[in-house]
Amino acid sequence: VSRYEADFEEIEFLGKGGFGEVVKARNKLDGRFYAIKKVKLDPMDIEENRSIRREITTLSRLHHQYVVRYYTSWIEGAESNRGSGSRSHDRQYRVLYIQMEYCENKTLRDAIEEGVDDIEAWRLFRQILEGLAYIHNEGMIHRDLKPSNIFLDANGDVKIGDFGLAVLSQAGLDRARWNDDDDDDDDCSVANIHGAGVGTALYVSPEVASGQDTGMRYNHKVDMYSLGIIFFELCYRFSTAMERITVIRKLRTPEVEFPADFSLTTKANQADIIKRLLNHSTRDRPSSMQLLQDKALPPKLASQWMQCNSGIQ
Ligand code: ATP
Ligand code: MG
Ligand code: MG
Repeated sequence: VSRYEADFEEIEFLGKGGFGEVVKARNKLDGRFYAIKKVKLDPMDIEENRSIRREITTLSRLHHQYVVRYYTSWIEGAESNRGSGSRSHDRQYRVLYIQMEYCENKTLRDAIEEGVDDIEAWRLFRQILEGLAYIHNEGMIHRDLKPSNIFLDANGDVKIGDFGLAVLSQAGLDRARWNDDDDDDDDCSVANIHGAGVGTALYVSPEVASGQDTGMRYNHKVDMYSLGIIFFELCYRFSTAMERITVIRKLRTPEVEFPADFSLTTKANQADIIKRLLNHSTRDRPSSMQLLQDKALPPKLASQWMQCNSGIQ
């Protein structure tokens, strides 16, 4: 019998993304809600399956106030049919379940759309930065940092979630490149990286976007680039969705061109940080640790120190 069906009661469907779908479910043993991500695995690719599990195990070691908890993961489903033809219809998929902390579905995307003042922008930026510094210190890279993947809890505090799995992004990119005419009708497969890329393109660092790496693994600086775009969005109000895209495209040029109405005098520190984060040279882009100690970053407000020192709240 399925572990998922035995242990969980499915409450609602939360959404479907590049690599699978996410549901809200109640654990029958502890009565709590969790977000469960279901990813279809290619049953033939045992090596890939192993690396995915290794990666989730690493993610489940992360414990930080501003980072979504990954509790556990398991795989269910029959092994692939032996002896049958290799047409996709004959294959039986295995499903990877990832049990995560459930976050109320308010994200940084919603906050940006409602509008964020200067103080709030710095507060949110610092929390994301602290979460990222922790993630990077643990040797992990997020890889899919964007406002819709950053949740806000009931106190308005940040929870960085929805990590892009390294194995999936790597395998997906390779496969997309080698096998562009994949006619597999399985939307959850890693081949669907193209679809996943659409909403992500504005946040992806130039070194990843150009895809010119040959065997060299990306480093934590890819997250810093995404952070630069996110911080800009926290500091600047777009009037239309179209304007958002045009403005961000200009920021993404090597010159990091700001819109004319972005006040470089009243927002000098913000502009300075954004410019450095959007540097196309990964070496000149600051790391999360460097930025936390940077003089352009305003000190924490007293209320935020108290919050931080008293632990969870
Ligand atoms: P992408 O793959 O590009 O990140 P996505 O975020 O829309 O796309 P998924 O990552 O599959 O797709 O997530 C699907 C939905 O589940 C999204 O609406 C997301 O906000 C929600 N979700 C993901 N993780 C959690 C979580 N821990 N708690 C609550 N909702 C979550
Ligand atoms: Mg997401
Ligand atoms: Mg996702």
